[in-house]
Amino acid sequence: AQPTHSWTGTRILTVANQKGGVGKTTTTVNIAAAMARAGLRVLVLDMDPQGNASTALSVPHQSGTAGIYDVLVEGTPMAEVVRESPTMAGLWCVPATIDLAGAEIELVPLVARENRLRRALHAFLEEQSADRAFDLVLIDCPPSLGLLTVNAFVAAREVLIPIQCEYYALEGLSQLLKNVELIQQHLNSELRVTTILLTMYDARTRLASDVAEQVREHFGETVLRVAIPRSVRISEAPSHGETVITYDPVSTGALSYTEAAAQMRQQKGSA
Ligand code: ADP
Ligand code: MG
Repeated sequence: AQPTHSWTGTRILTVANQKGGVGKTTTTVNIAAAMARAGLRVLVLDMDPQGNASTALSVPHQSGTAGIYDVLVEGTPMAEVVRESPTMAGLWCVPATIDLAGAEIELVPLVARENRLRRALHAFLEEQSADRAFDLVLIDCPPSLGLLTVNAFVAAREVLIPIQCEYYALEGLSQLLKNVELIQQHLNSELRVTTILLTMYDARTRLASDVAEQVREHFGETVLRVAIPRSVRISEAPSHGETVITYDPVSTGALSYTEAAAQMRQQKGSA
């Protein structure tokens, strides 16, 4: 059958790992910015109450700002809360405020509580005219496997897992994969882990290369060939309300995220 919606080709990835500090948010905003710089229309959904993705994209997210909380809990249409990042044309964001911290509990008694993000996102994508269709949606998850992350898994088609190249890197990964499998079985049969990205890679240490080798052995082509190096410029960029793509475009961090985005565009089956 021919695609019937302008958004049939939209890639929807959730960036997940229940460990904190592995590079989920950094990966979300920098892949998003690199894709937007390459001319794609990109939407970032900030699902972490910390709102770090919103900060990096310079999208206001102080308490009381309308954002993803209103979409999930109040049923506010996504079109009313989406903002274009002032840092880059074609890069849009639904911000997260600290109110989202309560959503994990407030969602529990709601009807179709696992489907609320999916419904809102799909309705929003469907109402875009063909010339404003989004090419890519990236969902930044909180460091837990609660209802917010479940909503992200149900709304997405693909999972992107950032793995920090350190000793406990693989710990918790089997739990994450088991959760993805449960989601596939019960809530979203099309969900696939398509992309693994090695982050904070320090080429000087034996440990990092050992972890990288182990991950590649286990996950094969799912692992992007480029690894993101540890880079001060990457960690500085958010405090300037920027991604490293605009903050220091020629830094190794910017170049490696740009390469990761390019490799993602070449993945089998990607539009
Ligand atoms: P998560 O979203 O998984 O909790 P973050 O993306 O917030 O992780 O990253 C955790 C911390 O590590 C942040 O302070 C971030 O700036 C820093 N960081 C992430 N990636 C890199 C990198 N490649 N080089 C240096 N610092 C990084
Ligand atoms: Mg984060």
